Amino acid sequence: MTTIAFVGLGNMGLPMAKNLLAAGFSVTGFDLSAEARAAFTEAGGRATDMLADAVVGADAVITMLPNGAIVRDVYQGEGGVFAHMKDGALLIDSSTIDVETSRTVAAAAEAQGAAMVDAPVSGGVSGAAAGTLAFMVGGTAEAYARAEPVLAPMAGKIVHAGAAGGGQAAKACNNMLLAISMIGVSEAFNLGRSLGLDDQTFFDIAANASGQCWSLTSYCPVPGPVPSAPSNNGYKPGFAAALMLKDLRLAASAIQDTGTNAPLGTHAAQLYQSMVDAGLGDTDFSGIINFLAEKADDAL
Ligand code: NAD
Repeated sequence: MTTIAFVGLGNMGLPMAKNLLAAGFSVTGFDLSAEARAAFTEAGGRATDMLADAVVGADAVITMLPNGAIVRDVYQGEGGVFAHMKDGALLIDSSTIDVETSRTVAAAAEAQGAAMVDAPVSGGVSGAAAGTLAFMVGGTAEAYARAEPVLAPMAGKIVHAGAAGGGQAAKACNNMLLAISMIGVSEAFNLGRSLGLDDQTFFDIAANASGQCWSLTSYCPVPGPVPSAPSNNGYKPGFAAALMLKDLRLAASAIQDTGTNAPLGTHAAQLYQSMVDAGLGDTDFSGIINFLAEKADDAL
Protein backbone atom coordinates (compact mmCIF):
# COMPACT_ATOMS: atom_id res chain seq x y z
CA MET A 1 0.00 0.00 0.00
CA THR A 2 1.26 3.51 -0.77
CA THR A 3 1.88 5.45 2.42
CA ILE A 4 1.41 9.20 2.30
CA ALA A 5 2.49 12.03 4.59
CA PHE A 6 0.03 14.92 4.19
CA VAL A 7 1.34 18.25 5.48
CA GLY A 8 -1.11 21.14 5.89
CA LEU A 9 -4.61 20.04 6.89
CA GLY A 10 -6.37 23.38 6.38
CA ASN A 11 -9.45 24.33 4.37
CA MET A 12 -8.08 22.55 1.31
CA GLY A 13 -5.69 19.97 2.76
CA LEU A 14 -8.15 18.34 5.15
CA PRO A 15 -10.76 17.37 2.54
CA MET A 16 -8.00 16.34 0.10
CA ALA A 17 -6.42 14.05 2.71
CA LYS A 18 -9.86 12.62 3.47
CA ASN A 19 -10.31 11.66 -0.17
CA LEU A 20 -6.96 9.85 -0.12
CA LEU A 21 -8.08 7.94 2.96
CA ALA A 22 -11.35 7.04 1.26
CA ALA A 23 -9.38 5.72 -1.72
CA GLY A 24 -7.50 3.31 0.57
CA PHE A 25 -4.17 5.08 0.98
CA SER A 26 -2.50 4.99 4.36
CA VAL A 27 -2.26 8.69 5.27
CA THR A 28 -0.48 10.32 8.19
CA GLY A 29 -1.38 13.99 8.54
CA PHE A 30 0.74 16.75 10.03
CA ASP A 31 -0.29 20.35 10.76
CA LEU A 32 0.96 22.92 13.26
CA SER A 33 -2.64 23.44 14.35
CA ALA A 34 -3.97 21.01 16.95
CA GLU A 35 -7.49 21.75 15.73
CA ALA A 36 -6.59 20.68 12.17
CA ARG A 37 -4.96 17.50 13.45
CA ALA A 38 -8.03 16.70 15.56
CA ALA A 39 -10.29 17.16 12.51
CA PHE A 40 -8.19 14.65 10.56
CA THR A 41 -8.25 12.14 13.41
CA GLU A 42 -12.02 12.54 13.61
CA ALA A 43 -12.19 11.71 9.90
CA GLY A 44 -10.43 8.40 10.54
CA GLY A 45 -6.88 9.46 9.67
CA ARG A 46 -3.71 9.20 11.71
CA ALA A 47 -2.40 12.59 12.76
CA THR A 48 0.92 13.49 14.34
CA ASP A 49 2.37 16.64 15.88
CA MET A 50 5.83 15.87 14.46
CA LEU A 51 6.67 16.37 10.80
CA ALA A 52 9.40 13.71 10.96
CA ASP A 53 6.92 11.13 12.26
CA ALA A 54 4.74 11.61 9.18
CA VAL A 55 7.58 11.75 6.64
CA VAL A 56 9.87 8.92 7.75
CA GLY A 57 9.15 5.88 5.58
CA ALA A 58 6.40 7.58 3.55
CA ASP A 59 6.30 6.71 -0.17
CA ALA A 60 4.88 10.15 -0.97
CA VAL A 61 4.77 13.52 0.79
CA ILE A 62 2.04 16.00 -0.14
CA THR A 63 2.13 19.60 1.07
CA MET A 64 -0.82 22.04 1.02
CA LEU A 65 0.58 25.16 2.70
CA PRO A 66 -0.11 28.91 2.71
CA ASN A 67 2.93 30.35 0.89
CA GLY A 68 6.36 29.86 -0.66
CA ALA A 69 8.39 30.77 2.44
CA ILE A 70 6.59 28.10 4.46
CA VAL A 71 6.95 25.54 1.65
CA ARG A 72 10.70 26.20 1.46
CA ASP A 73 11.01 25.87 5.22
CA VAL A 74 8.97 22.67 5.43
CA TYR A 75 11.11 20.97 2.76
CA GLN A 76 14.54 22.50 3.24
CA GLY A 77 14.50 23.76 6.84
CA GLU A 78 16.22 22.04 9.71
CA GLY A 79 14.29 18.87 10.49
CA GLY A 80 12.25 19.34 7.32
CA VAL A 81 11.06 16.86 4.69
CA PHE A 82 14.49 16.51 3.05
CA ALA A 83 16.04 15.55 6.37
CA HIS A 84 13.61 12.70 6.96
CA MET A 85 12.27 11.41 3.63
CA LYS A 86 13.15 7.95 2.45
CA ASP A 87 15.33 7.41 -0.64
CA GLY A 88 13.45 8.01 -3.86
CA ALA A 89 10.38 9.46 -2.16
CA LEU A 90 7.78 11.22 -4.33
CA LEU A 91 7.18 14.84 -3.26
CA ILE A 92 4.06 16.75 -4.33
CA ASP A 93 3.58 20.40 -3.46
CA SER A 94 -0.02 21.43 -4.12
CA SER A 95 0.28 24.85 -2.46
CA THR A 96 -0.08 27.92 -4.67
CA ILE A 97 3.35 29.58 -4.56
CA ASP A 98 5.69 31.56 -6.82
CA VAL A 99 7.34 29.81 -9.74
CA GLU A 100 10.85 30.69 -8.60
CA THR A 101 10.53 29.06 -5.16
CA SER A 102 8.82 26.06 -6.72
CA ARG A 103 11.74 25.54 -9.13
CA THR A 104 14.35 26.05 -6.40
CA VAL A 105 12.78 23.50 -4.05
CA ALA A 106 12.28 20.99 -6.89
CA ALA A 107 15.94 21.31 -7.94
CA ALA A 108 17.04 20.75 -4.33
CA ALA A 109 14.76 17.69 -4.11
CA GLU A 110 16.22 16.24 -7.29
CA ALA A 111 19.74 16.80 -5.95
CA GLN A 112 18.71 14.66 -2.96
CA GLY A 113 17.41 11.84 -5.15
CA ALA A 114 13.69 12.57 -4.72
CA ALA A 115 11.15 13.11 -7.50
CA MET A 116 9.18 16.32 -7.02
CA VAL A 117 6.24 17.90 -8.78
CA ASP A 118 4.43 21.17 -8.21
CA ALA A 119 0.71 20.47 -8.44
CA PRO A 120 -1.36 23.56 -7.60
CA VAL A 121 -5.11 23.24 -7.91
CA SER A 122 -8.18 25.12 -8.94
CA GLY A 123 -11.65 24.22 -7.77
CA GLY A 124 -11.61 25.63 -4.24
CA VAL A 125 -12.87 24.07 -1.04
CA SER A 126 -15.94 22.56 -2.71
CA GLY A 127 -13.76 20.90 -5.38
CA ALA A 128 -11.45 19.61 -2.65
CA ALA A 129 -14.41 18.08 -0.78
CA ALA A 130 -15.91 16.55 -3.92
CA GLY A 131 -12.57 15.18 -5.19
CA THR A 132 -12.92 17.15 -8.41
CA LEU A 133 -9.95 19.52 -8.24
CA ALA A 134 -8.09 20.47 -11.42
CA PHE A 135 -4.37 19.79 -10.89
CA MET A 136 -1.75 21.62 -12.98
CA VAL A 137 1.42 19.61 -12.63
CA GLY A 138 5.04 20.62 -13.25
CA GLY A 139 7.90 18.13 -13.24
CA THR A 140 9.63 15.43 -15.26
CA ALA A 141 7.59 12.86 -17.19
CA GLU A 142 8.71 10.18 -14.69
CA ALA A 143 7.68 12.24 -11.67
CA TYR A 144 4.34 13.08 -13.32
CA ALA A 145 3.66 9.39 -14.03
CA ARG A 146 4.28 8.55 -10.37
CA ALA A 147 2.20 11.48 -9.09
CA GLU A 148 -0.87 10.86 -11.26
CA PRO A 149 -2.31 7.84 -9.36
CA VAL A 150 -1.77 9.63 -6.03
CA LEU A 151 -3.55 12.75 -7.26
CA ALA A 152 -6.40 10.83 -8.94
CA PRO A 153 -8.69 10.41 -5.88
CA MET A 154 -8.60 14.18 -5.34
CA ALA A 155 -8.97 15.16 -8.98
CA GLY A 156 -11.51 15.86 -11.68
CA LYS A 157 -8.71 16.72 -14.08
CA ILE A 158 -4.92 16.34 -14.05
CA VAL A 159 -2.77 18.09 -16.65
CA HIS A 160 0.98 17.85 -17.13
CA ALA A 161 1.91 21.51 -17.64
CA GLY A 162 5.64 21.04 -18.27
CA ALA A 163 8.89 20.99 -16.32
CA ALA A 164 9.24 21.93 -12.63
CA GLY A 165 7.37 25.16 -11.87
CA GLY A 166 5.09 24.61 -14.88
CA GLY A 167 2.05 23.98 -12.71
CA GLN A 168 2.59 27.21 -10.78
CA ALA A 169 3.18 29.07 -14.04
CA ALA A 170 -0.10 27.79 -15.51
CA LYS A 171 -2.02 28.66 -12.35
CA ALA A 172 -0.59 32.22 -12.21
CA CYS A 173 -1.35 32.84 -15.90
CA ASN A 174 -4.86 31.39 -15.69
CA ASN A 175 -5.82 33.39 -12.62
CA MET A 176 -4.35 36.59 -14.04
CA LEU A 177 -6.53 36.02 -17.12
CA LEU A 178 -9.56 35.30 -14.91
CA ALA A 179 -9.06 38.54 -12.96
CA ILE A 180 -8.70 40.59 -16.14
CA SER A 181 -11.78 39.00 -17.72
CA MET A 182 -13.86 39.51 -14.56
CA ILE A 183 -12.87 43.18 -14.43
CA GLY A 184 -13.67 43.48 -18.15
CA VAL A 185 -17.11 41.92 -17.77
CA SER A 186 -17.78 44.12 -14.73
CA GLU A 187 -16.81 47.29 -16.60
CA ALA A 188 -19.03 46.29 -19.52
CA PHE A 189 -22.07 45.83 -17.24
CA ASN A 190 -21.35 49.07 -15.39
CA LEU A 191 -21.03 51.03 -18.65
CA GLY A 192 -24.14 49.29 -20.01
CA ARG A 193 -26.10 50.36 -16.94
CA SER A 194 -24.85 53.94 -17.33
CA LEU A 195 -26.08 53.84 -20.92
CA GLY A 196 -29.48 52.44 -19.93
CA LEU A 197 -28.97 48.81 -20.99
CA ASP A 198 -30.85 46.16 -19.04
CA ASP A 199 -28.48 43.58 -17.41
CA GLN A 200 -30.30 40.49 -18.73
CA THR A 201 -30.61 41.98 -22.22
CA PHE A 202 -26.92 42.80 -22.36
CA PHE A 203 -26.09 39.32 -20.99
CA ASP A 204 -28.19 37.64 -23.70
CA ILE A 205 -26.40 39.64 -26.39
CA ALA A 206 -22.81 39.36 -25.10
CA ALA A 207 -23.19 35.67 -24.17
CA ASN A 208 -23.84 35.00 -27.85
CA ALA A 209 -21.38 37.50 -29.21
CA SER A 210 -17.63 38.04 -29.17
CA GLY A 211 -17.64 39.20 -25.52
CA GLN A 212 -18.51 35.68 -24.39
CA CYS A 213 -16.21 34.27 -21.68
CA TRP A 214 -16.33 32.17 -18.48
CA SER A 215 -16.59 35.25 -16.22
CA LEU A 216 -19.74 36.24 -18.12
CA THR A 217 -21.53 32.97 -18.77
CA SER A 218 -20.50 30.79 -15.80
CA TYR A 219 -19.83 33.33 -13.07
CA CYS A 220 -21.76 36.44 -14.08
CA PRO A 221 -21.02 39.32 -11.67
CA VAL A 222 -24.57 40.75 -11.87
CA PRO A 223 -27.43 38.91 -10.14
CA GLY A 224 -29.93 37.13 -12.39
CA PRO A 225 -28.47 35.63 -15.55
CA VAL A 226 -26.43 32.78 -13.96
CA PRO A 227 -28.32 31.43 -10.90
CA SER A 228 -25.33 29.54 -9.43
CA ALA A 229 -23.05 32.60 -9.45
CA PRO A 230 -22.11 34.23 -6.11
CA SER A 231 -23.75 37.47 -7.34
CA ASN A 232 -27.09 35.78 -6.49
CA ASN A 233 -25.88 34.96 -2.99
CA GLY A 234 -24.72 38.33 -1.67
CA TYR A 235 -21.25 37.79 -3.23
CA LYS A 236 -20.43 35.16 -0.62
CA PRO A 237 -17.36 33.25 -1.92
CA GLY A 238 -16.89 31.23 -4.10
CA PHE A 239 -13.40 32.52 -4.58
CA ALA A 240 -12.61 35.33 -2.17
CA ALA A 241 -11.05 38.57 -3.43
CA ALA A 242 -8.17 38.08 -0.95
CA LEU A 243 -7.29 34.73 -2.55
CA MET A 244 -7.45 36.29 -6.01
CA LEU A 245 -5.11 39.02 -4.79
CA LYS A 246 -2.66 36.38 -3.53
CA ASP A 247 -2.58 34.77 -6.99
CA LEU A 248 -2.25 38.16 -8.73
CA ARG A 249 0.72 39.03 -6.54
CA LEU A 250 2.38 35.77 -7.62
CA ALA A 251 1.65 36.69 -11.25
CA ALA A 252 3.01 40.21 -10.63
CA SER A 253 6.27 38.85 -9.24
CA ALA A 254 6.58 36.55 -12.28
CA ILE A 255 5.88 39.53 -14.57
CA GLN A 256 8.70 41.39 -12.87
CA ASP A 257 11.14 38.46 -12.76
CA THR A 258 10.69 37.73 -16.45
CA GLY A 259 10.42 41.35 -17.66
CA THR A 260 7.14 40.50 -19.40
CA ASN A 261 5.01 43.43 -20.56
CA ALA A 262 1.61 42.74 -18.93
CA PRO A 263 -0.02 46.07 -18.05
CA LEU A 264 -3.52 44.66 -17.52
CA GLY A 265 -2.30 41.89 -15.19
CA THR A 266 -0.35 44.47 -13.23
CA HIS A 267 -3.35 46.81 -13.02
CA ALA A 268 -5.69 43.95 -12.07
CA ALA A 269 -3.44 43.28 -9.04
CA GLN A 270 -3.70 46.97 -8.07
CA LEU A 271 -7.51 46.94 -8.36
CA TYR A 272 -7.88 43.80 -6.23
CA GLN A 273 -5.42 45.30 -3.72
CA SER A 274 -7.72 48.37 -3.45
CA MET A 275 -10.75 46.12 -3.03
CA VAL A 276 -9.05 44.17 -0.23
CA ASP A 277 -7.81 47.42 1.38
CA ALA A 278 -11.43 48.58 1.43
CA GLY A 279 -12.28 45.63 3.69
CA LEU A 280 -13.79 43.47 0.95
CA GLY A 281 -11.22 40.64 0.99
CA ASP A 282 -13.81 38.13 2.20
CA THR A 283 -16.22 39.06 -0.60
CA ASP A 284 -16.28 36.94 -3.76
CA PHE A 285 -13.89 38.29 -6.38
CA SER A 286 -16.82 38.96 -8.74
CA GLY A 287 -17.92 41.65 -6.23
CA ILE A 288 -15.33 43.86 -7.94
CA ILE A 289 -18.24 45.02 -10.12
CA ASN A 290 -19.76 46.89 -7.15
CA PHE A 291 -16.39 48.12 -5.92
CA LEU A 292 -15.69 49.60 -9.36
CA ALA A 293 -19.17 51.17 -9.60
CA GLU A 294 -18.87 52.77 -6.18
CA LYS A 295 -15.36 54.03 -6.88
CA ALA A 296 -16.50 55.82 -10.04
CA ASP A 297 -15.04 59.17 -9.03
CA ASP A 298 -11.71 57.92 -7.72
CA ALA A 299 -8.63 57.45 -9.84
CA LEU A 300 -8.02 53.72 -9.59
P1 NAD B 1 -5.41 27.24 5.15
O1 NAD B 1 -4.80 28.43 5.79
O2 NAD B 1 -6.82 26.88 5.46
O3 NAD B 1 -4.51 25.94 5.47
C1 NAD B 1 -3.12 25.94 5.58
C2 NAD B 1 -2.74 24.97 6.70
O4 NAD B 1 -1.32 24.88 6.76
C3 NAD B 1 -3.21 25.44 8.08
O5 NAD B 1 -3.96 24.41 8.70
C4 NAD B 1 -1.92 25.72 8.84
O6 NAD B 1 -2.00 25.43 10.22
C5 NAD B 1 -0.96 24.79 8.13
N1 NAD B 1 0.44 25.18 8.26
C6 NAD B 1 1.00 26.40 8.16
N2 NAD B 1 2.33 26.32 8.32
C7 NAD B 1 2.62 25.01 8.52
C8 NAD B 1 3.82 24.29 8.74
N3 NAD B 1 4.99 24.91 8.79
N4 NAD B 1 3.73 22.96 8.93
C9 NAD B 1 2.55 22.32 8.88
N5 NAD B 1 1.37 22.94 8.67
C10 NAD B 1 1.42 24.28 8.51
O7 NAD B 1 -5.21 27.45 3.58
P2 NAD B 1 -5.99 26.70 2.39
O8 NAD B 1 -7.18 27.49 2.01
O9 NAD B 1 -6.12 25.25 2.73
O10 NAD B 1 -4.93 26.87 1.20
C11 NAD B 1 -3.77 26.06 1.10
C12 NAD B 1 -3.09 26.36 -0.23
O11 NAD B 1 -4.00 26.07 -1.29
C13 NAD B 1 -2.67 27.82 -0.40
O12 NAD B 1 -1.43 27.86 -1.05
C14 NAD B 1 -3.78 28.40 -1.25
O13 NAD B 1 -3.36 29.50 -2.02
C15 NAD B 1 -4.13 27.20 -2.12
N6 NAD B 1 -5.50 27.23 -2.68
C16 NAD B 1 -6.56 27.54 -1.88
C17 NAD B 1 -7.83 27.55 -2.42
C18 NAD B 1 -9.04 27.89 -1.56
O14 NAD B 1 -10.12 28.08 -2.13
N7 NAD B 1 -8.92 27.94 -0.24
C19 NAD B 1 -8.03 27.24 -3.77
C20 NAD B 1 -6.94 26.88 -4.55
C21 NAD B 1 -5.67 26.88 -3.98
